[in-house]
Amino acid sequence: MTDHPLRNTPAMDAFWMPFTANRQFKAAPRLLVSAEGMHYTADDGRRILDGSAGLWCVNAGHGRRGIAAAVERQLATLDFAPTFQMGHPIAFEFAERLAEIAPGGPDKRLDRVFFTNSGSESVDTALKIALAYQRAIGQGTRTRLIGRERGYHGVGFGGLSVGGIVSNRRVFPQLNGTDHLRHTHDPARNAFVKGQPEHGAELAEDLERLVALHGAETIAACIVEPVAGSTGVLVPPKGYLERLREICTKHGILLIFDEVISGFGRLGAPFATDFFGVVPDLVTSAKGLTNGTVPMGAVFASRAVHDALMQGPDGIELFHGYTYSGHPIACAAGIATLDIYREEGLLTRVADIADDWAAAMHDLRGRKGVIDIRTIGLVAGIELAPRPDAPGKRAYDVFVDCFERGLLTRVTGDIIALSPPLIIERGQIGEIVDILGAAIDRVA
Ligand code: PMP
Repeated sequence: MTDHPLRNTPAMDAFWMPFTANRQFKAAPRLLVSAEGMHYTADDGRRILDGSAGLWCVNAGHGRRGIAAAVERQLATLDFAPTFQMGHPIAFEFAERLAEIAPGGPDKRLDRVFFTNSGSESVDTALKIALAYQRAIGQGTRTRLIGRERGYHGVGFGGLSVGGIVSNRRVFPQLNGTDHLRHTHDPARNAFVKGQPEHGAELAEDLERLVALHGAETIAACIVEPVAGSTGVLVPPKGYLERLREICTKHGILLIFDEVISGFGRLGAPFATDFFGVVPDLVTSAKGLTNGTVPMGAVFASRAVHDALMQGPDGIELFHGYTYSGHPIACAAGIATLDIYREEGLLTRVADIADDWAAAMHDLRGRKGVIDIRTIGLVAGIELAPRPDAPGKRAYDVFVDCFERGLLTRVTGDIIALSPPLIIERGQIGEIVDILGAAIDRVA
């Protein structure tokens, strides 16, 4: 098979690629042209095992006919209709289906759903809901938002401000009054741990420290990823999320879990909220919501938060929304996705394979340059010793080598992140380890 005709054409300059140096990409383009099940096909015809579910989003695997058919039907029936002062049935249907599996426990289920178009929009929406909620209950002085170092909450100004990735923040102004907890990554005490580390719950006391510093009456919400994904798979220490929940409750601070990655079965429960048994007040989602097929996000809110914003004299308390909130095509894709999750038991399947996954990943321990391995659910972070002269280069080289050997991974700093579709077979777990091991050896 020959290379794709796009190669070496001006088209390769026209697309301004996200988080990517076009010039570097163009020199050796990696082009994916089709996908089915656990595999992509590259433009040179090679099959690439999808070790990262695209970008943490294709949870049910690729090429699902049910989703394609639902999207096609919906396009032919109702391509677009507004949801401002108007509605269309499928948005309500999808919200109801989501409410049935909404994160939470018997006493508190976050079954009120606000639709967005991405993870970043879900985060900014959740932050705005938190601010509007505090004002609605007479706590208008609470305008401060707390995030965490090494948190990733997308690229909107809200998400950027509570996020903790220095390079993403540096050039841009931040929202006033944000502050950050320390991250929980502690390789000195917690290296090569399967699941939740023993040490570090005390880091949640950072929130008490910020309350003491700023005053609880200034703080609206605290947002964290239950498992930080994009910054290299940081798993919460035992007791940490529980303690954050206690401190938030004590001080009237809303707790937001950013479940853009951890939602929809990634850990072996529908949401990380359910997996860890800690219930926040708002949950953000996207990605697995539509199996990555049609861009969409959703914010799940508790009834207490929702109802407080429905008491306004004119009936509108939240001046916020998107042209495409509840887009019919995205909703059709979402409902078909939920059907697949239900029929194939995918929202809990990982519970059965997580131990095998962890064992296989930890087999890479001892390879040259591997300084930590972290696993939870169907996620793994393999951390390599950075080259002193070129931080990030070693993991990037492993990523490139893996691709050449037929495996798609994600790279962040000197960490290789893995999060394959939830339909993965045990044999394919072995394949990932074999390829990754060979790539690590070669680059070392
Ligand atoms: N929050 C988290 C936790 C994420 O992992 C991401 C994306 N990886 C986002 C927000 C942003 O989502 P999007 O790229 O869809 O805007």
